[in-house]
Amino acid sequence: MKVAIIGAGITGLTTAHALLKEFPTWEVHIYEKSPVLNEVGAGIMLHPNALKVLDYLGVGETIRDAGQQLAKAVITRADLKPIKKSDIDLLTDKDGNTIIGIHRARLQSILADSLPQQRIHLNSELLDVIFNESSVDLKFSTSKGTFDFVLAADGIHSQARSFILPNSKKRYSGQTCWRGISTLKLPEHLHHAAFEAWGNKLRFGIAPISDTEIYWFAVHSESAGGKDTKETLQQDLLDLFHEFNPIIRELIQSTPVQKILRNDISDLERIPVWHKNRMCLLGDAAHATTPNMGQGACQGIEDAFYIAQILLLESNPEKAFTLFEKKRREKVDMVVNTSWKIGKAAHQPVSQFFLRSAFKIIPQSLVKKQMETLYEVEGL
Ligand SMILES: Cc1cc2nc3c(=O)[nH]c(=O)nc-3n(C[C@H](O)[C@H](O)[C@H](O)COP(=O)(O)OP(=O)(O)OC[C@H]3O[C@@H](n4cnc5c(N)ncnc54)[C@H](O)[C@@H]3O)c2cc1C
Repeated sequence: MKVAIIGAGITGLTTAHALLKEFPTWEVHIYEKSPVLNEVGAGIMLHPNALKVLDYLGVGETIRDAGQQLAKAVITRADLKPIKKSDIDLLTDKDGNTIIGIHRARLQSILADSLPQQRIHLNSELLDVIFNESSVDLKFSTSKGTFDFVLAADGIHSQARSFILPNSKKRYSGQTCWRGISTLKLPEHLHHAAFEAWGNKLRFGIAPISDTEIYWFAVHSESAGGKDTKETLQQDLLDLFHEFNPIIRELIQSTPVQKILRNDISDLERIPVWHKNRMCLLGDAAHATTPNMGQGACQGIEDAFYIAQILLLESNPEKAFTLFEKKRREKVDMVVNTSWKIGKAAHQPVSQFFLRSAFKIIPQSLVKKQMETLYEVEGL
């Protein structure tokens, strides 16, 4: 089989690993439009569902070593005082896996370096797709080829998706996010957990991603398309978060301003189908979510695992894609919808009040059960 994967992001690279593990003789090519693998200067949280897959693919240990284990995630007030003290580890699965915080560029390098380098084609933007009876012709900016099937993991702005559905839409959450990495030394009690501090229409997250690096994110309700003025950005963020714990302001101050990233937070409106003929969408291309549960990439990693498992059982790609979508829909819909609601509630004073009250009264055992369902990966 000759397979094309579009996009060398977390989903595309993990998908290559998953296919090569189950089908070592297949010719699996990855096409990435960037001239270099994107070294996004931010951190990412990998939850137990993703770690189980990465362990199965043989890269879990290296990823754990390159990141920081986070024993818990705590929602706090602006002063970093927990809204509720948790007495059980909600973010630990049955096997004792907990969250790993890691630099995105490090994660991407680990995934890419352990794949056959001659099959990763950089500078190769997908431009055109022609469906034949039992193959697909692809045209890239610098080459073309014919493949038995195509797995498109080219992100929320997916070009591949436009050949399946011309009219998909992104949905702006009303929130903008800044991200940075600081080398500030945190007090010991903050070093092995992730924190998210909630204020009025504002949130600030902190997650250590190595012994010396702290990833932070700052979220604010505002219109889409806003731009930063680099000269005043740090002061603007300090003004926004002036009522927050001083550590938060120190994290902003200690991050080089050129390295602070800004993104409007959007997800993808639910699309009616993920596949056509011999091409199937995976990861953000199929079901981009807002980041409020830290599950976007984790779900892409799950996609990689499930598509390979289903292809083991069903060798006809079109039938396999139908089975794949059936298997994955319910869980990704739940993640996208829950994440959207959390994001809305976290920024509205009334719903924030109800959410805080709910945190206090909902039994931890119930939340733990829901997290176990989220972390379940069939067969692992
Ligand atoms: C602020 C923020 C914080 C987040 N935090 C977390 C977190 O803690 N945990 C988590 O699990 N998720 C998190 N996410 C979500 C996560 O970043 C995404 O879900 C994940 O990166 C999606 O990976 P992907 O490979 O599907 O898509 P992408 O990362 O978008 O990769 C797509 C790749 O395809 C390439 N490409 C695009 N078009 C073409 C083309 N036409 N031809 C060839 N190549 C193409 C792109 O260059 C890119 O390399 C966060 C997201 C945001 C915005």
